[in-house]
Amino acid sequence: MPLIIEKTLKGQRALVTGGSSGIGAAVARALAEAGTRVAINYLSDAEDAQKLVDEIQAGGGEAFAVQADVSREEEVKLMFELAIKRWGSLDILIANAGIQLDSAFTEMTLAQWDKVLAVNLTGQFLCAREAVKEFLRRGLIPELSSAMGKIICMSSVHDIIPWAGHVNYAASKGAVLMFMKSLAQEVAHQRIRVNAISPGAIRTPINRSAWETPEAERELLKLIPYERIGEPMDIGHAAVWLASDASDYVIGTTLYVDGGMTLYPGFREGG
Ligand code: NAD
Repeated sequence: MPLIIEKTLKGQRALVTGGSSGIGAAVARALAEAGTRVAINYLSDAEDAQKLVDEIQAGGGEAFAVQADVSREEEVKLMFELAIKRWGSLDILIANAGIQLDSAFTEMTLAQWDKVLAVNLTGQFLCAREAVKEFLRRGLIPELSSAMGKIICMSSVHDIIPWAGHVNYAASKGAVLMFMKSLAQEVAHQRIRVNAISPGAIRTPINRSAWETPEAERELLKLIPYERIGEPMDIGHAAVWLASDASDYVIGTTLYVDGGMTLYPGFREGG
């Protein structure tokens, strides 16, 4: 008997925001591998997005690239219109796009604060709103999935671990936690599942400085009980499970995929 994961993702249609690099690209690859058609949203790197589309298509999957700034309402609406026109509907949203603009608190500009909140929080709101509207318009397709639609918010361990020097980022991810839970509570009765993944330290462009030299990597590993830096596909695998009917009873939950980073590693020997 096939695993429920394989059975239920086949033929579904996903949109991955910020899908041309890092975690988003791995999630797009993993979903495509599981049989999902994938719309890959990108902000400016059209070439990388197209490369990923070509790679997925070469592997027998279906994908296309779509440009949009997730913090701009009209662009988000247009992106959903395009994807829905192409495939008839959408079943999965991976609200993954995110940025860091780091600064000591007293030097943080309003522009840095606003931008991070606009992409990391407002972007999730704008995309999730379009997704929920589409799920409700289309209704349940039982042969495709037990749920009318699935939303996965890409959060961070910094939705619960405070992060000095990154107050805007941690505030945005803390807000994503309650955004996700409140939305999950609001739409669960309509058979829409909203959950989050909170990655720990994953080897991607967003945190290059934290792992690119041996010294930086050694320091980072002190924070990770499992003693390895995460790879983007660690999140890809988690997203496939969370988007599939294998997790059908999982609602409003944050899955920490972090090698134990949220376990207060300093307390293993101290405390
Ligand atoms: P990344 O920089 O490779 O990915 C971020 C993506 O978002 C990029 O493709 C970027 O172009 C896109 N993006 C930025 N602004 C956008 C906008 N306005 N509209 C559309 N797309 C936009 O880094 P990543 O690590 O893959 O990050 C993906 C997500 O994972 C982010 O939400 C990030 O906060 C989260 N995360 C990453 C880590 C990590 O260790 N890498 C840890 C926790 C959480």
